[in-house]
Amino acid sequence: MNCCATDASFAESGSEVVKAVSGSREGPEAVIQRCENCGGQSRPVSRKTVLLMLKPEWLEQAITGTYRFCSARDCPVVYFEEQDSHRFTTDDLRVRVGVKASSDPIPLCYCFGFAESHIRDEISLTGTTTIPERISTLIREGLCSCESRNPSGVCCLGEVNKAVGTLQQASSDDPRKP
Ligand SMILES: [Zn+2]
Repeated sequence: MNCCATDASFAESGSEVVKAVSGSREGPEAVIQRCENCGGQSRPVSRKTVLLMLKPEWLEQAITGTYRFCSARDCPVVYFEEQDSHRFTTDDLRVRVGVKASSDPIPLCYCFGFAESHIRDEISLTGTTTIPERISTLIREGLCSCESRNPSGVCCLGEVNKAVGTLQQASSDDPRKP
């Protein structure tokens, strides 16, 4: 099974809104499920992913419910329950959440262990990075396991490519470089 095959549906902005509308029993204000803490957008995450990330003391609290993932960097909330006030923060997880980390290690690809520092080092040495291609090759072989490894439950390539863009920009802007 290629767990990354469905990621395209999340990439289209709007698809989540359509899903939220069809699944909503409330008024228009419920169309976009925003994080109760930061007000940012969220995406659905399976309960299985939530349970695979939580510290053991929280498992029983997440046996039921429908959870969403908040990816805002400055918001400590990782998961929140759609229908009630249940929420779990970075401290409640067994794994470090890369999108919410501002210092190394910043995990990017949880299936194959690539962190932001790997990409940063490669760019500073060679000016470019082979990491997205190496990850893509493994994904094409069906070897990724994002639902069980990535706290967001979806393919890491979006975050990896975003980090590559930011790091390459920073590298070319660096005045210390010749
Ligand atoms: Zn949030």
